[in-house]
Amino acid sequence: MPKSNVVLVSVDSNSILKGARYFKNLFRQLVDEYNLSSFVDVLETGSFGVYRDGVIVAIYPEEVYYEVKNPDDVKKIVEEHLLKGRRAKELELDSTLFTDKISVEAKKVSEETRVVLRNAGVIDPTNIDEYIARDGYMALAKVLNEMKPVEVVEIVKESGLRGRGGAGFPTGLKWEFTMKTEADQKYVICNADEGEPGTFKDRLIMEGDPHALVEAMTIAGYAVGATKGYIYIRGEYYGSVQNIQKAIEDAYEYGLLGENILGSGFTFHLAVRLGAGAYICGEETALMESIEGKAGRPRLKPPYPPVSGLYSKPTVINNVETFVNVPQIILKGADWFKSIGTENSPGTKVFSLCGNIVNRGIIEAPMGTTIRDLVYKYGGGIANGKELKMIQTGGTAGTFVGPDKLDTPLDFDSMKNYGVSLGSGVILVIDEDNCAVDVLKKAMEFFEHESCGKCTPCREGTKMLVRMLDEISKGRGKEEYIDAMKNIASTMLDSSFCGLGQSIPIPLNSMLDNFKEEFLAHINAKESPCGICKFEKPKKKLVRR
Ligand code: SF4
Repeated sequence: MPKSNVVLVSVDSNSILKGARYFKNLFRQLVDEYNLSSFVDVLETGSFGVYRDGVIVAIYPEEVYYEVKNPDDVKKIVEEHLLKGRRAKELELDSTLFTDKISVEAKKVSEETRVVLRNAGVIDPTNIDEYIARDGYMALAKVLNEMKPVEVVEIVKESGLRGRGGAGFPTGLKWEFTMKTEADQKYVICNADEGEPGTFKDRLIMEGDPHALVEAMTIAGYAVGATKGYIYIRGEYYGSVQNIQKAIEDAYEYGLLGENILGSGFTFHLAVRLGAGAYICGEETALMESIEGKAGRPRLKPPYPPVSGLYSKPTVINNVETFVNVPQIILKGADWFKSIGTENSPGTKVFSLCGNIVNRGIIEAPMGTTIRDLVYKYGGGIANGKELKMIQTGGTAGTFVGPDKLDTPLDFDSMKNYGVSLGSGVILVIDEDNCAVDVLKKAMEFFEHESCGKCTPCREGTKMLVRMLDEISKGRGKEEYIDAMKNIASTMLDSSFCGLGQSIPIPLNSMLDNFKEEFLAHINAKESPCGICKFEKPKKKLVRR
């Protein structure tokens, strides 16, 4: 029998560290103690998107959100809300953070702004029945019963869906190339090796709605003629791995994976492969090398994966967010998808909000949403009342921009039109207390660490950049370093083997162009002007006697 109240506790890899499972058990214990168990269910769900210092819980049917930081908060919610029927006001959060209201207001789009995150924070991700109750696997059933593979490819092409990993390549075209390549074996791969600092959206999508990915990959397999798929997940993503593994097992049990799916005669097998934490394995060919058991280093392209991918067979590879759009496109149609976002960038984007911002976490907004809306409407503004200094958009390989770019709409054209990258959808907010030299040095240290060493421009170039930035941060920089760094980056763009080395000029040049004064201030000052960089006194020369 349905109960009159449901307490949904957000359990994801972030909230578990804050005691989510402990609080869930405490809710259950108190519900029992107050004899409320006939009326109240306490359940787990995935991430609600926005992070807070505490654990977020939602109470339905009222749809009230609370932040729980300690056992007393749990007691208060049970006694006030569940027992006496009045809200525990001091713990309540603004519900618009968790619904589509802001999106609707911001872009005047339909109520269905949540495409990718439609089930996140709504269902228990470990329960296949809850996914099915929200139209889960309906798209797969429709595809297998009513559509030919070519029709599936056509609708994905028609929708204008583009890869959400950063490059923005049209997904339908990729599928079409793979479909048209003749082979005895084809593969579907999900790139879930999210390794860029500040990017965590795919982790939360997999934790919150793992069946959506399983369903989408099976649809892709049917469309291109593949019978095997792999989800390559970053090894540290324990919560994602657990939920995806469970989803795969349950899908096999329900006849939604394996031989003769839903009696259609179509066979598709899916398995998880774990990455070992190398950023370069997010590059599609390095990822395939890794699955094949080799060192994760990029391959020469062409041939591209739709012609020669995993084990030299035609392969479709997309990331988590891209795939998860597909079932909704199948069910609601290409025109519906195109009605969201912009003409060249249809649909939504899941953004990771991080840094010095009030609401950290992930949010889904229509393509074309401005940086201002992302930072101030969704993100709640700059944390601790500080001034905004800069924003890095698109991830560590993305652009550093100042507040003058706040009104830039973010979509696949923003790099071409405004010089601001969309990338993987990271919005890293950096306040006035941070130093441009220090921020850029940390970014370059990341690339130096993650360079796979295969080609000289990247292997040596990243080292040289870090060395120069280190000198500047220690008060030993020279003005000519600024042009020298740009020259190195330009050489890396022209001659690096893969996207890692080729992308270095984006963060480097945008930082040097927008915040050059700060670099010059470090170079010309006798003491650190920012208080973060530690100037070192020049070493005394040794004098031989
Ligand atoms: Fe490796 Fe960097 Fe060369 Fe890519 S560009 S192959 S990561 S060394």
